[in-house]
Amino acid sequence: MTYIHDTIVKLQKTSPAQAEFYQAVEEILDSLQPILETNEKYKKHAIIERMVEPERQIMFRVPWVDDQGNVQVNKGYRIEFNSALGPYKGGLRFHPSVNASIIKFLGFEQIFKNALTGLPIGGGKGGANFDPKGKSDGEIMRFCQSFINELYRHIGPTCDVPAGDIGVGAREIGYMFGQYKRLTGNYDGVFTGKSLLWGGSLVRKEATGYGCVYFAQYMLEDQNQSLAGKTCLVSGAGNVAIYTIEKLYELGALPITCSDSSGTLYHETGINLATLKELKEVRKVRLEEYLLHHPDARYIPVSDYPTDGHAVWRFPAELAFPCATQNELTEQDAQTLVANGVIAVSEGANMPSTQDAVEVFLNAKICYGPGKAANAGGVATSQLEMAQNASMQTWSFAEVDEKLKVIMKNIYRNARDTAAEFGEPHNLVLGANIAGFRKVADAMIEQGVV
Ligand code: NDP
Repeated sequence: MTYIHDTIVKLQKTSPAQAEFYQAVEEILDSLQPILETNEKYKKHAIIERMVEPERQIMFRVPWVDDQGNVQVNKGYRIEFNSALGPYKGGLRFHPSVNASIIKFLGFEQIFKNALTGLPIGGGKGGANFDPKGKSDGEIMRFCQSFINELYRHIGPTCDVPAGDIGVGAREIGYMFGQYKRLTGNYDGVFTGKSLLWGGSLVRKEATGYGCVYFAQYMLEDQNQSLAGKTCLVSGAGNVAIYTIEKLYELGALPITCSDSSGTLYHETGINLATLKELKEVRKVRLEEYLLHHPDARYIPVSDYPTDGHAVWRFPAELAFPCATQNELTEQDAQTLVANGVIAVSEGANMPSTQDAVEVFLNAKICYGPGKAANAGGVATSQLEMAQNASMQTWSFAEVDEKLKVIMKNIYRNARDTAAEFGEPHNLVLGANIAGFRKVADAMIEQGVV
């Protein structure tokens, strides 16, 4: 596999110190081997070389004034990775860990994920190393306005349509949209994840979590299994985790864990969703406060985590839903999950399992839904929001949810059937990567050398 090695070596020179980006590229190239070997056209058209280099990378200063009158400076990013299938589409992440490597890995994955949805959207991602934790509403607003003062000139409803991600929800989208409108004078569908009061779509908030559970359901159905009665581990306590838990309950499963960056919560009788929403969506406080409402639950602070992984994955359960962040599930975690009898893993987060952990799942031949397929419900519903905005229509909750289910079923089948076509029926990583790649690569060839 010298081309993988050569590509990574080249990237290390042209894009130094981007470990997460190399990880994402390596994972995808590894599974593309069978299609690259049999199709000379991809080599002839330098598809890999073109795909790993973003069409455009925008990096900019974001100065803002905090509540004490001090000037703060953050770094903003928008990576417009690939527009072969449509306008760049992908979220904005506000988190102190954000850097070019993180945004590029997310943007690269987004290309294939968006292709898999079957919808006309290209791949992009952005964000800033801004930490929203502990900031006042005024500080969040001033930061968002400053961020858009630069970004507004690069985005638009037919060229680049950002959405939310970690640290960016309806409040932040509102402030960014307001500033975009003020600067451009345009009231158009330039963001998704908007408030329902002014152009948002029903189900967008729930879509990534719901979609990730639908994906698990389709994987299980093929094994003559169902979600009903299954015990589930969920990590994270943000947007994706909350709506994963909500849908799991609706389909008769029992989610017993969730986590934030301070620790893990374990509640044997099931996580209380109303309390979780109150703590995380309304009051935005630490998960530990859950114990004040439910003293029978257990809280494991990060300081007590195993040195080789995450506390969430050490509880026995049949299903696992990593919904927090990248590389949160290690090889050791994967081995523990398998030893404890897990039968399916469906990823709500982006690249939450390390490459070694993925190998453990694939070798154990359990159902494994990689993030780029299993969490694509969010971006798919964003595209449904764009369609509603463009046609000036509003669809009902049931209508959007039904479309989401159909899209998730199609993504699952596409990944499954492609995996079978290439002789590895259980390998949805290979299936998802090849299916997504083929669509984007063929579109790039048809559009010429651009
Ligand atoms: P949120 O900001 O709503 O929640 C993120 C959750 O993960 C929080 O509980 C947060 O804890 C925890 N978390 C974040 N970073 C870390 C870290 N470094 N270590 C430990 N815990 C961490 O984000 P989302 O729920 O929207 O996103 C979660 C994942 O899903 C991300 O990987 C995102 O890229 C992916 N995703 C999201 C989509 C969406 O529609 N929102 C679409 C597709 C994928 P704390 O609050 O303490 O930081």
